[in-house]
Amino acid sequence: MLPPPTCAGARAGAMEANPSVLATVGVGDLVLLDPLSEESLLSNLRERFLHKEIYTYIGNVVISVNPYRQLPIYSAEMVEQYCNGNFYAMKPHIYAIAEDAYSSLRDRNRDQCILITGESGAGKTEASKLVMSYVAAVCSKGADVTKVKEQLLQSNPVLEAFGNAKTIRNNNSSRFGKYMDVEFDFKGEPLGGLISNYLLEKSRVVWHVKNERNFHIFYQLLAGASDPLLKRLKLQRDCRHHGYLGDENPRLPGMDDATNFQAVQDAMRIIGFSEAEVMQLLEVTAVVLKLGDLQLSGQFQASGMDACGIQNIQGWMGRHPRIGLIGLQESILEQALCSRTVEAKQEKVVTALSVAQGYFGRDALAKNIYSRLFDWLVTRINESIQVTAGERRKVMGVLDIYGFEIFQDNSFEQFIINYCNEKLQQIFILMTLKEEQEEYFREGIKWTPVTFFDNSIICDLIESGGILVLLDEECLRPGTVSAATFLAKLDQAFGSHEHYESRKSQSDRHITDTSLPSTCFRVHHYAGKVTYNATGFIEKNTDRLYRGLAQAMWQAKHTLLRSLFPDGDPKKASLKMPPTAGFQFKASINTLMKNLYSKNPNYIRCIKPNENQAPGQFTDELVRSQVRYLGLLENVRVRRAGYAYRQPYQPCLERYRLLSTHTWPRWTGTLFNLEERRRRRVEELATVIQKTYRGWRCRTQYQLMRKSQILI
Ligand code: ATP
Ligand code: MG
Repeated sequence: MLPPPTCAGARAGAMEANPSVLATVGVGDLVLLDPLSEESLLSNLRERFLHKEIYTYIGNVVISVNPYRQLPIYSAEMVEQYCNGNFYAMKPHIYAIAEDAYSSLRDRNRDQCILITGESGAGKTEASKLVMSYVAAVCSKGADVTKVKEQLLQSNPVLEAFGNAKTIRNNNSSRFGKYMDVEFDFKGEPLGGLISNYLLEKSRVVWHVKNERNFHIFYQLLAGASDPLLKRLKLQRDCRHHGYLGDENPRLPGMDDATNFQAVQDAMRIIGFSEAEVMQLLEVTAVVLKLGDLQLSGQFQASGMDACGIQNIQGWMGRHPRIGLIGLQESILEQALCSRTVEAKQEKVVTALSVAQGYFGRDALAKNIYSRLFDWLVTRINESIQVTAGERRKVMGVLDIYGFEIFQDNSFEQFIINYCNEKLQQIFILMTLKEEQEEYFREGIKWTPVTFFDNSIICDLIESGGILVLLDEECLRPGTVSAATFLAKLDQAFGSHEHYESRKSQSDRHITDTSLPSTCFRVHHYAGKVTYNATGFIEKNTDRLYRGLAQAMWQAKHTLLRSLFPDGDPKKASLKMPPTAGFQFKASINTLMKNLYSKNPNYIRCIKPNENQAPGQFTDELVRSQVRYLGLLENVRVRRAGYAYRQPYQPCLERYRLLSTHTWPRWTGTLFNLEERRRRRVEELATVIQKTYRGWRCRTQYQLMRKSQILI
């Protein structure tokens, strides 16, 4: 009664046209791996990877192993094949999951989200672009739709230029998190979208480790701007003249900064930026670079203090405030950078700052301008792509966020990035391992539990009453706070926590480990142990900008720069402390989680095959550790033992009842072209049965048969 997976009814034609699609290496779906063990799973992935088969399924989860080379598998013909093909009849491909999500959204009215996870360099951003370009290619091609599609796609190069950078692990590493909701009308045509961005790693603006780079846009601007533009922006073409860009050779193999600069400008125009907006954006970007060139020096004061002044302010922004780069008097900037004004009992007290304090303020200002500029950029793109009409919309969310990171030195940024990855792993565990097994228990299905590591204990260590909360308390506490007081607080609260370690907790447990410095704490994350340097956590979390600096920026004549600093308006000055960076991130991540939970999830699990960004290299131990922490083996076990496909009864009956002509539930509605709709439903039902059948093949499922019979 049940058709074998290779005969997908009417869709079989697509395979006949391309018989090679089924010739796979190893097994394309790990559910069918026999025998199943970590070793066999790994060797299956290896064998496929070495034969350039980078995609493998676990049911409807796609595992993607980064090939680090261009493969001829993303052509228009491929899109065509997956658009008309059947999920299980074609070779595993990211297009198949994109097709499944899109058709489910269009035909079954279910909002979707695509969750792409994996460590830094594993291929998440590339995967998200492939999904977006697939959806853009298969939906309608009318002029209005084409414009929307172009705008959505072109947001990528712009955000990557300002938000990505070369790191040791990835030449194009996302240094911000991005979630994009693409909205469709009832026919499945895109109407627009909405982008949310998460905590940009702004410390990179002022400092990066050797062999890394600052954000791409700075290098693109210097390499690609014409001479008159550079002159206007008062920049030097050679990166070495700009303090924030470092001395090393900034060129990257395979990345042409000048060409990319042109692409970014073109993209901005397609999105709808005016020429004036583009110019203002570049001017503010230039100001950030130029702040890094300011040199401060000590000047002897009558008080005996060494107060700072700017050595090279002359001509920094042009002689006249009106024609200067940002229309700000140099004296105002100098005063804001070199002194601080405190109001006490309606009296203003001005204190001179030391050189170190001056540099600290300068860097804080550069970071603040850049991150506010990035937020503005996202808001501006949203203005162009956002849907205004009030009709009922279907949504596909695509999440591409920074991957799990373990560096030699890990700071607040890595802590936040890794916390975010814990939350995403939690969603995966909840939705694919925990809830699924619980459902079998609820429905009384005979089930041998599959054990897995539940990382909620680590999420709790960080968020609810955890490290971030204690950090906030420390930031808000009056009196002298420091990395040492913060660490002491952590030790007191989590000294005996199994996922926390510090020198103190080690000595309490009689462990001697000299590899853990006394200024650090270690968290045992789901993906590995990471040692964080507590120094800098308080400053980065508080993220305070001296009010004088915000006020100086607000006095600039430059419309965009001024608009970035509404808090610099003295009339709006508030004594209230702004929320900390950690608090804001926690809140936005929790909103994101709620959003994701409300949608049907589709997973792309990206794997990095080697540390050298090299094609054709598959390092067993590196992949093994990812297979372990991603919980892939457990995922296969649950999938294999359980139902491969499930759908609630009610929507299923509603969807297919028009096929029923004489028994309940009989279709009584009038439909245009009923026969055509019936034909489509028969095809679709064949796919449903086929998916169900595959799960059944792995383990005889009596109840599954019953469900299939009910459908028929
Ligand atoms: P991060 O967390 O650091 O942002 P990521 O997971 O987003 O990392 P990507 O930037 O998507 O990683 O991928 C890193 C590099 O790997 C890409 O710049 C590209 O060179 C290569 N790459 C990734 N996926 C593919 C693919 N499908 N085909 C060819 N090359 C790929
Ligand atoms: Mg990325």
